[in-house]
Amino acid sequence: MNFAVLTIFPRMFAPFWEHGIVRRAIERGRITAQAIDIREFAAGRHRVTDDRPYGGGCGMVMKPEPLAAAIRATRGQGPYSHTVLLSPQGRVFDQETAATLAGAQGLIFVCGRYEGIDERVCRREIDLEISIGDFVLTGGELAAMVVMDAVTRLIPGTLGGEESAARDSFAQGLLEHAHYTRPPVFEGEAVPEVLRGGDHQAIAQWRHESALIRTLLKRRDLLDGYPLAREDLEIIRKWVREIESVIEA
Ligand code: SAM
Repeated sequence: MNFAVLTIFPRMFAPFWEHGIVRRAIERGRITAQAIDIREFAAGRHRVTDDRPYGGGCGMVMKPEPLAAAIRATRGQGPYSHTVLLSPQGRVFDQETAATLAGAQGLIFVCGRYEGIDERVCRREIDLEISIGDFVLTGGELAAMVVMDAVTRLIPGTLGGEESAARDSFAQGLLEHAHYTRPPVFEGEAVPEVLRGGDHQAIAQWRHESALIRTLLKRRDLLDGYPLAREDLEIIRKWVREIESVIEA
């Protein structure tokens, strides 16, 4: 996977690429990553990348020429499947989109600043607009990092064990189960006995129940798209009975 990020703040990316799983993926050759300064494609001594909006109003708009030139030059450098604009107006990013993008040969990310980019560049050069949520950031750089981070961990060979991504929240429609580590008792609260017993089938059952109930309590909406088995309904009924008994007591 090749990541190229077009930005007027390329130095923001070094700390991101120099830590954790992303760093390891680069070292192992699973991904390549470069931040490209849009200013290098701007004309004139001052290399201006923004201008006032037609129609008036406050704020600045990213000029089309440097951005289009940067995108085209980057595309010519290597296999890139999509040019992605980070935008609050884009499709809201989720695990499914991350998994789809993880199959790409390469991705070019375009980071907007100010009021955003000139619409004509958007129409000509952008394949996909991605938002990381219904809020407005000052620029697309953090959003690009969020998307690259989520995509990187889904590229085979980037995590320690392939299993961990497959069991993550959203991968199978539910949130992931609760986790515990040592010590066995923390401030009077013990780790559930079943997790310490070594019975793998019982542990798998406990984890599924934990995932199901956490999803019900924290993200009820996810269950609408999840095929509940008869055993799942039985687990939910058991919890409902327990909650009712607490209320009655
Ligand atoms: N005027 C734009 C609007 O209201 O739609 C917002 C521009 S925002 C201040 C500047 C840049 O930040 C955008 O061009 C985009 O690249 C990035 N950005 C802001 N919010 C974002 C979000 N939720 N997801 C992804 N990128 C975002």
